[in-house]
Amino acid sequence: MIKYVPGMTSVVIEEIPDRVTLAVDISNCQGNCVGCHSPFLKTDVGDPLTEEVIDALVAANFGVDCFLFLGEGRDLPRLLALAEHVRSKGLLVALYSGRTGVEEEIYAAFDYVKVGPYIEKYGPLNSRTTNQRLYRVHHGADGTFSKEDITARFWRRGIDPNVAIKA
Ligand code: SF4
Repeated sequence: MIKYVPGMTSVVIEEIPDRVTLAVDISNCQGNCVGCHSPFLKTDVGDPLTEEVIDALVAANFGVDCFLFLGEGRDLPRLLALAEHVRSKGLLVALYSGRTGVEEEIYAAFDYVKVGPYIEKYGPLNSRTTNQRLYRVHHGADGTFSKEDITARFWRRGIDPNVAIKA
């Protein structure tokens, strides 16, 4: 099961370049970032995130073209199924993971994947010294995919580096 935190969903424009993104906080985070911005997300809080809940959230936020899982939880098969559901609705699907690396299955299922824990001395994605990486995943018609590191997009856009993008 994947759980999300109702009341914390928001439409964002900075987390995924060029997209109007519906961001949903996912609990049961596998990360262990020092100075974690939301320690409660490491616990089993929230409500089940189902296909029906995703449909309702998207319907309530008309105009979004990307759905962002802020966290991956601890149920990979369900995460992949939910990602596939989002894509079946014609939306792009993105994941912010706190892990250094994720399974290839995740890249195969998502259009954007952020990896890397938040490390204060390196800064968030919009810091040129960041250890985190955002990949745009390009999918071929034959099921193959390739990853493009687009982290530098955060640096060119002049986003205030003091405004932390969520880990
Ligand atoms: S990925 Fe986010 S929620 Fe998870 S430990 Fe790191 S800062 Fe906390």
